[in-house]
Parts: sequence; structure tokens; C-alpha cells
Amino acid sequence: MAQPEVDLTKKYDAVIIGSGAAGGMAAHVLTTHGLQVLLLEAGKKLDIEKELRSMQWPYDNAHRGALPPDSHSLSFNEYTIRRPPYGPGFEKSKNLYSYIGNSDYMKNIVVNERENPFTGTNYAWVRARCLGGKTNIWGRLALRLSDYDFKAKDRDGYGENWPISYSDIAPYYDKVDLYLGITGVKENLPYLPDSLFQRPTKLNCAEVTLQQGLKKMGRVLTQYRAGVTTDGLKHNKYRSRCYGRGACERKGGCDIHAAFDSPTGLIYPAMDTGNLTLRTNSTVREITVDPATGKASGVHFTDSQTMKDYTVRGKVVIVAASTLESARLLLLSKSRLYPNGLANSSGHVGHNFCEHVMGPGVAGQARDLVGKPSTLDDGRPGGFYLARFRNLKEKHPNFIRGYGFEGGSGSSMFPAGTDQPGFGASFKEEIRKNQGSYIGMGAFGEVLARYENYVDLDPVVKDKWGVPALRFHYKFGENEHNMVKDMKETAQEMVEAAGFKIIYVNDRVLTEGWSIHELGTARMGNDPKTSVLNQFQQSHDVKNLFVVDGSAFVNASCQNPTWTIMALCWRSCDYLADQLAKNEL
Ligand SMILES: Cc1cc2nc3c(=O)[nH]c(=O)nc-3n(C[C@H](O)[C@H](O)[C@H](O)COP(=O)(O)OP(=O)(O)OC[C@H]3O[C@@H](n4cnc5c(N)ncnc54)[C@H](O)[C@@H]3O)c2cc1C
Ligand code: SF4
Repeated sequence: MAQPEVDLTKKYDAVIIGSGAAGGMAAHVLTTHGLQVLLLEAGKKLDIEKELRSMQWPYDNAHRGALPPDSHSLSFNEYTIRRPPYGPGFEKSKNLYSYIGNSDYMKNIVVNERENPFTGTNYAWVRARCLGGKTNIWGRLALRLSDYDFKAKDRDGYGENWPISYSDIAPYYDKVDLYLGITGVKENLPYLPDSLFQRPTKLNCAEVTLQQGLKKMGRVLTQYRAGVTTDGLKHNKYRSRCYGRGACERKGGCDIHAAFDSPTGLIYPAMDTGNLTLRTNSTVREITVDPATGKASGVHFTDSQTMKDYTVRGKVVIVAASTLESARLLLLSKSRLYPNGLANSSGHVGHNFCEHVMGPGVAGQARDLVGKPSTLDDGRPGGFYLARFRNLKEKHPNFIRGYGFEGGSGSSMFPAGTDQPGFGASFKEEIRKNQGSYIGMGAFGEVLARYENYVDLDPVVKDKWGVPALRFHYKFGENEHNMVKDMKETAQEMVEAAGFKIIYVNDRVLTEGWSIHELGTARMGNDPKTSVLNQFQQSHDVKNLFVVDGSAFVNASCQNPTWTIMALCWRSCDYLADQLAKNEL
């Protein structure tokens, strides 16, 4: 795509950095308010349907969907044995990707690790530098947080409460639901609030069996709450309703855009207002400051392909580069006025870094489904979500906070069980006989926000564009390890209690970062000494600077974060537009 000419003499009302869930939402809300907005995205605009190919059969792909032989994606063992930067040692591979880049469908969406190095402790950092960022390939589980999360400190004394309550954000969750579409079933759980759901997908036979078994234990298994429109969205011409087809479980995106992605869900409609200018291939390297006022004045960026440098001005700067990249940008934006980085008088930028711990899970088999005719379970945006049950009423003796499980069963385009030994006709027969009978689930648990878990800038290593790399100082702690033990035990106990034969139990803790839910590096709070942003994600130090992505989270909860990122961003951008109109920024 030819780059549109950006008018660099113009002072935009707002300059947004990053075009994922957060940047896209900021563009939507601010252009709807009539602001003149410039959106800068480091990556390119991909011909995304050509990448996703969600109707392609495995046998129509040269490598059955795997990466071409000249490329490599990091495995769990490699993340464990090696230390970042992960590039050295893989010189034979033309491209090196994170673990999620292990398919032909993802290879152009995720970054090449060699061009984008980082250092420090082990971390499976997944980045997508392209228009729409990680929303092109996200798993779409779209959950709300509740006051069990926002006011978690009141319940167990740990950490900080958020400066907002559920009632502050609930109307914005509703707006996100209605604008983007979400499928699910109401359960009336105070710790997992319902959305305004469109038509739900169906649980299959084994999933209903597990659901019924869990009911007896007082635990709730519900349909996967997916950020997918099943009824359609009359206001958006770029998206279709879910046709229930395609390799949805591959999580390689949806090429009719029934599943939310930022370009079709937010950015193209924002461009249609005439108020949005988009420039891709624009890597922001610094937020500039007016030394006279101390306010943000715009950004310096480099054209990611030509390497040419540019400066652009804005009345407001909105950082939405994703949690860790946003922290990196704030730390990079050092000046005489802000020697520790921008918005960092508290010293908390990069700290309180949290996410979800993953790994423990279980696979079971419904013996009565073995040999039954195949069902068509592809074309579902997800199987089930098993809601948190720990530390709600009683207190667990060994850990605080909670965890939930994602899982599913059924027959899909690429059948389960193909990793079993065997070959030839008897192998095929075995696979056919068993494939629909398996059920599996894996846990996502809250990693506590700790000041000691942080990122800073590496003094030596730089990326391909000459920008200092991030250095990680991040480890799971005792609470996470105790929680993981419990995840493994309860997973087995629940699947057994529902009558399944256990095939295997997984007690392996996946590398830090595996959840792709990094959060908390510029947290919100009422006290400027211990937080970076106020409740509207506005910097305490620089009032025309907003950080609208997962950086603002005070804790990770155990629910997936993207719907909350977008609801918070919508709320903050409404406030921003109001303040700008009143000349308060
Ligand atoms: C495989 C996968 C499965 C997932 N599943 C789920 C799920 O089921 N549920 C859920 O809630 N979440 C899920 N996530 C996480 C979800 O994708 C993220 O929470 C969400 O995309 C975060 O939005 P963001 O805007 O903060 O970041 P991103 O979507 O990463 O977007 C950030 C953008 O900023 C750009 N950028 C970075 N640095 C710069 C710079 N210096 N200058 C200009 N631009 C820059 C990047 O190129 C990128 O396009 C998943 C993610 C992946 C990869
Ligand atoms: S099942 Fe629905 S959301 Fe999934 S790929 Fe198909 S149309 Fe898209």
C-alpha cells in the first residue's frame, strides 16, 4: 500500500501510537467526537485474508499449515534452556518467531525475533507488528472483570485497589459489546459479569457432560464468550456475522471478520468519518515534550522501511503500543524535564508487571463417544470457559486470587490425537474412531502485580531500527507456584468426577509470557507517588498524555484482558474529548 502523505505541518488534535485493540478503540472514539486524529503504526498493512486463509484445508497447504523449512519458532524447551535475546544460535533459520509463530498462517503477522530482540529473564514475548497488532490472531475470549478484581485488595489485603469500580466501567463494557459483538450465555455470576450477548454457540456432547458434572460441585462451565458477532452488526460494513465455518480453532484469525479485529472493527469505520489519518510503517521512538510547558508536543518516528525520521505534533498524545512497548516508549522519552522517562516521577513505569500463569491442564476421554459418527465442531469460535471458583467465599490456605480454565471437545479440521504413535490404515482408523471423544482444558491464573517484576531499557542491545531493547526482570513467585499445584489437582478431580477417563495430566508451568496477556507497567491509581496514571489513564505528570492499553491495569485478575482494555479506553477517550473541548489539556 502506498503510504498516505501525512501533513507534518499540521498539529493534530490527537496522535495515537499503535493500532491494536487499544489504539483502534481510541481512533474510533476520538474520531466519533469529531477530533482530527493521526494513527501511527510501526508495522505494515497486510493483505490479511491472504495470511489467514481460514477456509484452507491442511492438505491444500504446502506444509500442512506448518512453517516453511527456512523458518523456526521457539519451543518451550528453547525458551527454558536459552536466555534472551533468543536470536543467537538460530542463524541457520532465515526467520525466527515466538512460539505462536509456528504456522504458515502466522508467519507474517508476528515479529521476527532477530529484528526485535530483548534481554534479561526468560520470557515468551509475542508481538504482532502490523496494522491491528495482536487482534488479527487473538483467541477472542472476551471476559469482563468485576469488583472481585477491581477491589481485590479489600478482599485479601494484597496490592492496590483500582481507582474505579465495576459500576464505572459497566456502561463502557456495554458499549463495546454492542459496537463489536460478543457471543455467550448469561450466568448471573457476580465474579464474571455477563455481557450483552448475541446468539451463543453450542456446547457439544462431551462439554455438556462436563458442565453437568461441575454443576454438582457448584462450579460453572459456560459457552466460550467470544468477541465474535453471531447476529451481525448493521452499523459495520466491514464485518460479517459468524457463518460457523472455517478453521476457527486455529486462532489464525477470521477472514470474514466475524471475529473482532481492530482494522475492520474500529479503524476502517473511523477512517470513514473523514477524521482519521493512518500511517503504517511508522515506528515511534520518542514522545516529544515542550520544555516551556512540560506537556507532550508530539512524537518522533522512523519510517520502518525507508528508515527516514519524522516529527509530528499533536495537542494530545495517546500511547497504545501494547503494555510492554508502551512502557518502553515512556522510558525512551527522557528529557531534561523528565530524566527518568516520561510520566515516571513515581518510578513505577515498567514495574508492577503482571499477566497470567499457564500450563496445568488435563485431557480426558468420553468412552461412550469412541467410535460414534463424527460431529462437525469446527467453525465455533471456542469451546467453553470454566469460571474461577477459588477465593470467592472461602480462603484457600496456600494462595490468594484465582484461576479459570479454557477448554473444548469435538471434531475439528485437524483431528485431535494425531500425536499418538502409529502409521498407515490402522493409525487413520484409530484417529477416526477416537477424535470426537477427547476433552481438554488448560488454566489461566492471576500473577500478582509486584514492584520487583519489571522491565527497563537494555544499555547495549538495540533493535533493527536502532531503538534500545527492553530488558526483563520478571519471574513467577510463590503464590503462582502454589496456585499451579492446585490447578493441576482440581483439573484432574473435575474431569474425573464428570466421568471421563484421564488421558494425561499436565503439571508443566509454561514460560513466563506464554499467556500473551502482559499488563500493569503504567498502573492507574489515585496517588501520583505510587501510580503512573489516574482513573482516566491520563498521566499524573503530563496531563495531555494518555496510556490506554493494558499498561494501566492495577492487577491482572484471571480473566482475559482485551475487552477490559477496550472498555477502559472508551471511557478515557470520552473524558479526553470532553477535557480537550474545555481547553483543560
Ligand atoms: C494468539 C493470541 C491469542 C490471544 N487470545 C486472547 C484472548 O482469547 N482473549 C484476550 O482477551 N486476549 C487475547 N490475546 C491478547 C490480545 O491480543 C491483546 O490483549 C490485545 O491485542 C492488546 O491490544 P493492544 O492494543 O494493547 O496491543 P496490540 O494488539 O499488540 O497492538 C499494539 C500495536 O502497537 C504497535 N506498536 C508497537 N510499538 C510501536 C511503536 N513504537 N510505534 C508505533 N506502533 C507501535 C504494534 O505494531 C501493534 O500493532 C491473545 C493474543 C494472541 C497473540
Ligand atoms: S467460525 Fe465464525 S468466527 Fe470462526 S472463522 Fe468461522 S466465521 Fe470466523
